[in-house]
Amino acid sequence: MPLTLESVRQDFPLIVGKPDLVYLDSTASSQKPQAVIEALERFYRESYANVHRGAYSLSLAATDAYEQARHTLARFIGAQPEEVIFVRNTTEALNLVAYAWGLHNLREGDEILLSEMEHHANLVPWHLVAQRTGARIKAIPLTPEGRLELCALDELLTERVKVVSLVHMSNVLGTVNPVAEVARRAKAAGALVVVDGAQSAPHMPIDVKALGADFFAFSGHKMCGPTGAGVLWGRAEVLQELPPFLGGGEMILEVHVDRSSYARPPQRFEAGTPPIAEAIALGAAAEYLMGVGMEQIWQHDRALVEYCLKRLDEELPEVRTFGPRGKDRGGVVAFSLGSLHAHDVACALDQYGIAVRAGHHCAQPLHRKLGLASTARASFYLYTTFEEVDRFIEGLKQVREFFKDWL
Ligand code: PMP
Repeated sequence: MPLTLESVRQDFPLIVGKPDLVYLDSTASSQKPQAVIEALERFYRESYANVHRGAYSLSLAATDAYEQARHTLARFIGAQPEEVIFVRNTTEALNLVAYAWGLHNLREGDEILLSEMEHHANLVPWHLVAQRTGARIKAIPLTPEGRLELCALDELLTERVKVVSLVHMSNVLGTVNPVAEVARRAKAAGALVVVDGAQSAPHMPIDVKALGADFFAFSGHKMCGPTGAGVLWGRAEVLQELPPFLGGGEMILEVHVDRSSYARPPQRFEAGTPPIAEAIALGAAAEYLMGVGMEQIWQHDRALVEYCLKRLDEELPEVRTFGPRGKDRGGVVAFSLGSLHAHDVACALDQYGIAVRAGHHCAQPLHRKLGLASTARASFYLYTTFEEVDRFIEGLKQVREFFKDWL
């Protein structure tokens, strides 16, 4: 069943309140539905207390709500609740894996395999760990269309590769990587597999078991949830063996002055007071998205991006777009307009009420590969309409006209 756009849009107060705004920056962060705003407010108004430590009813109710959110997020990705660790965001999740797993398992001469399309969140933590362990970083190259060069994989996957960490969907190219295939080949070569799901989890159905990875990271704020809560999923057997990342309250079994022992997962990885209200509201966001239907959201994104690329190709030859054409492409369109600076394009579009992002989108190695310092980027989500894509195209035509002497 296709998505009922008008009723979806009514769920988002900011969108209803700003009828002239064309919000095309959901890849950076999504807007929030009423159900999520209400969940956050209701918790603070009616049930707020710290979790996991109170004997009184209010704290027990808060703990129940927090653990219920864990169950919901587990259902959202086809996992077990004890495999769901609440973190702040994808960046923290990937740092957790790099530090907790990487520092203990990587040695000099080992290799970490990434790709040329990674977000800095899946590069810098590995750089930090490589510097400390002496491990070396390699990257899967890209094809000219912006897909992974899978032919290179067999040669790259030597026995020295101990971890493969890969983005599921690129925040610049929109490419959806064949993670299940890479995971299968990486596991056969004996490597741990980590997936950056920051862009895939909000936009398509996810079944972590089917992906075959060991870790899967995503952020709540990109999937209709609040800022401050995200998820690291870890395969139960791997989490069991994983030492803690941060130490403090809540993650321990027993503490002496000079030593401590640690709780089982997921508590072992949730030191200190967690983002309680944010996690509960993230649970509401996951319920909301599942209610709309993740497959419907994915099909809607796909239809929008196909329509947008077709119109750009046919009507704006001065616009260069990046990323593959096909079913393995999500609702992200990074582009350049002639030799104009991406920030000028974004500022000019803003004059027409069209919000797009400009910059390197935390993917400097990829932009270096594209031969550009920055791109502008339009991105779509469940509340984006075809009329908004039309306004974006018309806006770009105005910008082209305005800057025609500089193109
Ligand atoms: N990976 C990808 C592919 C992303 O798009 C982003 C956010 N732009 C991140 C990681 C980092 O997410 P966060 O800032 O929420 O930690």
